[in-house]
Amino acid sequence: MNLMESLLLLIYLIASITFILGLKMLSNPKTARNGNLIAAAGMALAIIGTIAFYTDSSGEHLGNHLWILGGLAIGGIVGTMSAKKVKMTDMPQMVSLFNGMGGACAALISIIEFKHLVHDFQPELYAGGGYTYFSTLDGVSLLVIMAGLIIGSVSFTGSMIAWAKLDGRLNDFAFSGQHIVNILLLLVTVGLTTMIIFLRPEETIEFFYAALVLSAVYGILFVLPIGGADMPVVISLLNSFTGIAAACGGFLYDNTAMLTGGILVGAAGTLLTILMCNAMNRSLLNVLIGSFGVSAQSGQSTGVQGAHKEMSISDVAVLMSYSSKVVIVPGYGLAVAQAQHVCHELEKLLTEKGVEVTYAIHPVAGRMPGHMNVLLAEADVPYEKLKEMEEINDEFPSVDAVLVLGANDVVNPAAKTDPSSPIYGMPILEVESAKHVIVNKRSMKPGYAGIENELFFRPKTSMLFGDSKKVLQDLIAEIKNL
Ligand code: NDP
Repeated sequence: MNLMESLLLLIYLIASITFILGLKMLSNPKTARNGNLIAAAGMALAIIGTIAFYTDSSGEHLGNHLWILGGLAIGGIVGTMSAKKVKMTDMPQMVSLFNGMGGACAALISIIEFKHLVHDFQPELYAGGGYTYFSTLDGVSLLVIMAGLIIGSVSFTGSMIAWAKLDGRLNDFAFSGQHIVNILLLLVTVGLTTMIIFLRPEETIEFFYAALVLSAVYGILFVLPIGGADMPVVISLLNSFTGIAAACGGFLYDNTAMLTGGILVGAAGTLLTILMCNAMNRSLLNVLIGSFGVSAQSGQSTGVQGAHKEMSISDVAVLMSYSSKVVIVPGYGLAVAQAQHVCHELEKLLTEKGVEVTYAIHPVAGRMPGHMNVLLAEADVPYEKLKEMEEINDEFPSVDAVLVLGANDVVNPAAKTDPSSPIYGMPILEVESAKHVIVNKRSMKPGYAGIENELFFRPKTSMLFGDSKKVLQDLIAEIKNL
């Protein structure tokens, strides 16, 4: 190993350590920002090191510097500008878009490396052995290339569909027999991969591109029907797919930084998927064959009927000020209203008055995993005030008032009572067991799952209509005047 190779290996080692450190720091809102910066610095180091020191097996340095720098500049500028411009509520779409780009890159690596493999294949070396890839050491590379191709393309097209759905550009779509089509697509793709391995390399090019197209179609069909409240699971699953696909690239290029980064994303995404599945009470197998959510057609109404009652700001102010225990349930609407700071102000004001205030965090509240944690951390809400669903559900019976701020699906009792509901089976925040429930939203419109919410018509519930930020500002003013 020459000096440059040793130096590059050391750089990759440092980069890998920064990824692990960064990931660890992301688990706490206080250190998350720095963790992100440390991991990004490690990635920058790995990129610079690769450009400067990488040599291939024949000792050649990387060429095409202008192309590489051009790509880095365009990607860097577009990434920075879009990250600066994006609204907090549009973050999930952005995450999907970036995730899809990662998948596309992994698939592109596979396409290029497959071409190299076919081009460099030397049948004369294997003349006695029926020269298939399987009979050579390249068979392992080919398996990794195919894994990167299939997983990367599924992740790319799936993430694009997820982006379009989260952005409200696409509705859920399902047709009967879709599961069977999905399974067939997977089987044919696996069949094609097997043929690519066992046939002569020059005979397999069409099969390779057929596998690419079929995986891309699978990605689309797999995400299209998923609706209702089930998107979070799919988003984290696609995230883990991209990580695994990137790890395949790391393996092919013998790039330990890429391999470690990919494995970390893949493992973290898989763990998150399992946690999300548990939170949604769904099985991972159902997600994989794209089956759940088929019944969850957005816009569906559960036919809930009845009258709701409203409460005035001043009545809510009195109720909350004279309560001893208040729980705030933040939801997607709080993020839309960007009311996290004023919400924290209300919490501090009530605490000063001797009220015990906590936040109930549902694992899929908002539009991305951990959305409410990030939102409240932005407003410096102490982490100890955030309570997980399992913990707070036991406490609701002793709570005087629950203030639901822009949350809907995560408090919908239909998840427990209506087997025909698309969210049936999803654990919810059982706010109804508290003495009073005040729901703040702008109208009686449904949330993400597109279904009505019985909670709004229950005797203990009062509606407090209006934009969360404005309502909270008025509430604070009212409490101060008491
Ligand atoms: P919901 O989407 O169910 O409901 C949000 C509510 O906020 C709406 O009913 C809306 O009612 C109200 N709202 C919107 N803007 C405002 C505003 N400015 N002020 C006050 N209220 C407002 O949100 P939840 O957080 O309860 O549930 C999240 C849903 O999103 C779940 O179904 C989840 O599965 C899904 N999802 C979650 C993801 C994740 O990773 N966390 C990813 C993708 C989907 P109105 O218009 O009347 O104001």
